[in-house]
Order: sequence, then C-alpha cells, then structure tokens
Amino acid sequence: MVNAALGGSLSILALGGIYFWLSSSTPIEEQVTNNSPSASVEMTNDESIDANINTQDITVASPEVVATLKTDLLTSEYIAVGAVPTETAADIQEPSDIEKMVTVSHGDTLMSLLVTAGATRSEAHGAITALTDVYSPRKIRPGLDIALTFAPPSAPVTEEQAKERNVGPLRAMQFQPSVERIVKVSTTEGEDSKYIAEEIQRPLTMRMARSTNEITSSLYLAATNASVPNDIMIKMIRAYSFDVDFQREIQKGDSFEVVYEAFYDEDGNLARTGEMLYGRLNLSGDDLQLYRFTPSSGFTDYFNEKGQSAKKALMRTPVDGARLSSRFGKRKHPVLGYTKMHKGVDFAAPRGTPIYAAGDGVILRANRFSSFGNYIKIRHHSGYETAYAHLKGFAKGIRKSKRVRQGQVIGYVGTTGRSTGPHLHYEVLFNGRQVNPLGVKLPAGEKLKKADLKKFKVEQAKIDKIIEELEKPAAIAKLETN
Ligand SMILES: [Zn+2]
Repeated sequence: MVNAALGGSLSILALGGIYFWLSSSTPIEEQVTNNSPSASVEMTNDESIDANINTQDITVASPEVVATLKTDLLTSEYIAVGAVPTETAADIQEPSDIEKMVTVSHGDTLMSLLVTAGATRSEAHGAITALTDVYSPRKIRPGLDIALTFAPPSAPVTEEQAKERNVGPLRAMQFQPSVERIVKVSTTEGEDSKYIAEEIQRPLTMRMARSTNEITSSLYLAATNASVPNDIMIKMIRAYSFDVDFQREIQKGDSFEVVYEAFYDEDGNLARTGEMLYGRLNLSGDDLQLYRFTPSSGFTDYFNEKGQSAKKALMRTPVDGARLSSRFGKRKHPVLGYTKMHKGVDFAAPRGTPIYAAGDGVILRANRFSSFGNYIKIRHHSGYETAYAHLKGFAKGIRKSKRVRQGQVIGYVGTTGRSTGPHLHYEVLFNGRQVNPLGVKLPAGEKLKKADLKKFKVEQAKIDKIIEELEKPAAIAKLETN
C-alpha cells in the first residue's frame, strides 16, 4: 500500500483496488533524455473503458531504467559517506564538522551507538528524546545506517583525550527508515541550542513498467536477464505456482511478460516496486494470462481472462525453492533397498525451509508418526487431504483440530523419521487414497460471477490498454518530437 503522507504535488486515485500515482510533474522530458530504447509513453484518455479516471499522466518506464534499483541513504544531500578523518588542529584554519556513519548491529541500542561514536550521554539522550517526536527508537533495526554530524573539537585534542573523545558536540543524526522517508535530528542555532527532529518525505512517482523475455533455460534466469526486480519475480512465480510446474513445464522457446508498478525517486532511480498488475506465460504456444483484481470479497487475487482465480483449492508444491527429488509411483526405496510404491512426491529443500498448508482446512494430526517422523495431515473440502512428513518441527500453534489457511506456514523441512536427507514428503489423498500430487486434477478456486465479473472486465480492459501503450515502439518517437 502506498504511503498517503507523501508530499509534493501528488494525488492518489483508487483504480479498482490499485493505486496510481498521478503527478502533474511527471518527468516525461527526463524519459527522453534517458534515451530509453523501450516503451515510454503518455497514456491517452479512452472514454469507452475509462469514464472517470484520467490516465493521461501515467507514464511507463523501460526495464533498463528499472535495473538501477537504488534505495541507499547516500543519495541524500545531507550527509557524507564514512568517517571523515580527524585532521590535526594545526592544519586547519576553520575546523569543519565531522561526519560519521554507523551501522546498527544486533544488540545495539541507539544510546550505545551514539556514545561509542563520540557523543556524551547527555547529547545522546537529548537527540533520542527529540527523535521520539517523529520516530520510535524501538523501530530501529540491525543493518540501518545512521549518519552523524559532530562539531569539531573546541581545542586541539591530545593523544590521551582522543581515546575518550575526538569530536565536539553531536550536531545532527540522520537515517532513512524506508525509501520514502528520511528522519533527521539537528540542533537549533543560538544560545540555548536544543535538538529538534523532522521527517522528510521523498516524493516517489509511479510509472508502469513492462518486462518480457524468451525463456531459454529457466523463468528465473529469463526474468533476471530482463532486469525484473526480485520482488516482482517472486510475485509472478507465486501467482503461477498453482498452475505451472516450473520444473517440468518450462520449455525452450517459452516466454513471459510482466507489467508492474515501479516507484521512482526525484533522480529517476527505482526506489521500490509496487504490485504486479499482469502476467503472461507462453508455454508451448499456450498463453496463460493473469490479471490482478480485488472482488467484493476484498481478497485481491489473480484471475485469468475468463475471471477464473489462479488459485486452486490445493497447491501442487507447498514449499518454496524446492527441487523435486522423487516422484509418485514404484521405485527402489532409498533406505530399505527393495521396490516399493512411493505414495507421494519428495521435494529436496534446505533444512528449515517453511512448508505451507496446501489449502484451507483442519489439522487432523501434527505429531510424530513412525517412519514419517514429524508429520502433519490436513483435511480439506471435497474429500481431499494432504500430508507432510519428515518435518524438522511444527510452526507455532499448529496442533490437532486447528484450522489453517492456504499458504499458512505449518512446519519446516527436516529429515526426521526414515529419511536420507532434508526433504518434504508430500501426499495428496482423495477419498482416503493417495493420488499423484503432480497429476491430480485439482478442484478449482473462485470463479467471478455477476457484478464481480462485470467489474473485472472493466479492470481487465484498463490493464489491456496500459499494456497496449507499453508495447508501442512508436511511443518514444512521439515523445521525442514533442
Ligand atoms: Zn517420500
């Protein structure tokens, strides 16, 4: 969700559950000077699909621009990088402020950090008290960079004193808790100088971005080569994970397309990404399209062009980043050595990898179960059950009779019971009998009806229009002649 507190000349319009930033100062000229080779357009207003939303200010950026993901604090003009070496007093006529950069580690308190950097306890206390007005020091997390400004020491520092303190009073402290927010504590001028805190909002401009590529080996590689930001890639893989077995179904010559929100700072750097609006996977000539939409239930989801939810009642692969290591069917047992029916599929994954409930349901058991080790069985609707074996342990609160939602973490990959290494043994049962989780026809998820379907068609037309504009190579030429 976008931060409504952003300043600047921005306004927000809700557009079918998706928020668009519309800016009167969208830097179209900047786009042109980028010499961006791909789509960058000014949207035209189309009354037929878009009666009340003015889309003319939506601009789009090329994947090349998106590649320069930059969220660092150092783009700010207020601070300098690293510690400035303390010059000897003899060398300087007018002593300048001393800048230091400290990084929060585990176990640090803001007080300990400031004091270690050279502030007195009283200065640190003053700065922290002021900070509390705009930002809770408790929210500071390891990894955060904090820029500190000290006055120069008032007198030449002897070697002995330098061990204690080689700086003057703490003048300022600044950090960036998120890409849109800079927090700054500084001292007031004059006799009774005190610390004051302020919050600086960096206005971000949203533009639509589109990436597409042919898949030669894996979707991951194809998306990486097309500079698809990581969190968009994760969203795309999640959205398709119900339908597509990424291990088996991706063939050479397949392709993907993804359209998503990209938020840029004032320097034109990608600050963060927003939602994935649209995805298209072309697998062996079949187009699998997904549109983001929020039906009246309030649960945003991806739907195909017919308004059918991408979600299935059960997930085929209830663990991320796993490698299918053993299929369903007859096989030589890896431990016992004789041929035996393998009544599930095995996914090799690092120990501790989270395991998801494959669908909504009720836990039938979550305990140790002979050769299965730590074991969970869930009952779903329509006669389906799923089972998970060899777990390292159970997620908090997972026990018999507990209700779980699809995608909820229920346990972690391990190698308990009769097992040769960390993996998940996963079974799908239909009317009490194990079926092949990869082959079984899964019950479908929600299909949009009536008013929802009508609203979806409007949203779909809007997204199609955006894609059409993003695809136009003529768009740049048009801008350049302006
Ligand atoms: Zn197994």
